[in-house]
Amino acid sequence: MSEPLAVVTIDGPSGVGKSTISRRVAARLGFTYLDTGAMYRAVALRCRQENLAITNEKAVAAILPLLNIRLLPARSEQEETRVILDGVEVSEEIRTPEISMLASAVSALGPVRSALTRMQREMGATGKIVAEGRDTGTVVFPGAAWKIYLDASPEVRAKRRIRQLRERGEEVNEAEILAQIVKRDRDDSERTIAPLKAAPDAVRIDSTGMSVDEVVEQVLGVVQQQQKAG
Ligand code: C5P
Repeated sequence: MSEPLAVVTIDGPSGVGKSTISRRVAARLGFTYLDTGAMYRAVALRCRQENLAITNEKAVAAILPLLNIRLLPARSEQEETRVILDGVEVSEEIRTPEISMLASAVSALGPVRSALTRMQREMGATGKIVAEGRDTGTVVFPGAAWKIYLDASPEVRAKRRIRQLRERGEEVNEAEILAQIVKRDRDDSERTIAPLKAAPDAVRIDSTGMSVDEVVEQVLGVVQQQQKAG
């Protein structure tokens, strides 16, 4: 059997704190953080810029080979992964509630999933990464040495998202954010290709009532206990 890849996968629903946790775990391990959701967001933004209907799978597939998506590390704790789309920074534009919903819609399309999965595997080919998303443990890196499935109640996740958006100075309708989170999770879980779900060999962590530091320590504990890869 081949050696497990030195990759930590962290999957789970939206607003569960995956990016903060993944970034900190990566920093502690000296690994690179791979934000796969940022890539789906970039595709969604391009579709909107080009006025493409997400239902038009052929038209969406046609733009994929032309896209150049680059990910750069955040410059501070408050920032998310920076995204450069065809040479233009779009880090803020991709983080609006509208693009969140659109990203979920494009992510159900087969051609989008295969193109981004291929790019993510290339980015992780040498190992030493913490990959975060919905299908990183099940589809993108099934051979990863350490797999985590993070969960928390929808209400707690909506509260975190609301705080995040307010910190960015955005006006927030709380009921709408909760409804969007519930819809996005349902769509992500029920889609046919690469649905959101825990890999059978993932360790589940329910972060409801836990601090970020506590979750980070639990994830690092999993890596230390299961030293499967070099
Ligand atoms: O994680 P984030 O909220 O940025 O992801 C945006 C959307 O991209 C998700 O709602 C999901 O539909 C999609 N996604 C995915 N697979 C991944 C990462 C994100 O389908 N690995």
